[in-house]
Amino acid sequence: MVEKIKLAIEDCALCGGCEIALADLGTALLDLFDKHIDLVYAPILASTTDYDKADITLVIGAIRSDHDLERVKAAREKSKIIVSFGTCPSSAGLVGLANLFDKDEMLKRAYGTEDPSKHKETPKLLDEVKPLSKYIHVDYIIPGCPPPQPVIKQMLKSVLKGVL
Ligand code: SF4
Repeated sequence: MVEKIKLAIEDCALCGGCEIALADLGTALLDLFDKHIDLVYAPILASTTDYDKADITLVIGAIRSDHDLERVKAAREKSKIIVSFGTCPSSAGLVGLANLFDKDEMLKRAYGTEDPSKHKETPKLLDEVKPLSKYIHVDYIIPGCPPPQPVIKQMLKSVLKGVL
């Protein structure tokens, strides 16, 4: 039996649109999971809390917090191929608009006097939103906000053919 491709999906700072675009593949996506792809990690779609290794990891969203950074650095170690999926991880995208404002002022405006990142368990915001490639080596970039369906399908076909 041919071994399934181990796929992980890492969520960083995002709006959810890229995940919806993936989920919009509908039954075609379920077929892939059934026959060809072992989904080892995807907080939006599966209940696994971590993974040991992946053949390919899609990173969705920009790098906004120390938690995002920790996750993608670990993902680089664990994954043969890293794909920057959508405009946010590729160029900071919509999330990067936060760079127009001072981080501390933004937190104060959103949360009043209490800065939630003072709590030990809450991820700390980095000073700037940055694309993934500023922190780790990225093998492929899939453009779009979100990437259009034909592009996602082509990417998955390439994954299955082993050319990605
Ligand atoms: S690339 Fe666009 S659709 Fe995808 S997470 Fe970013 S803002 Fe949302």
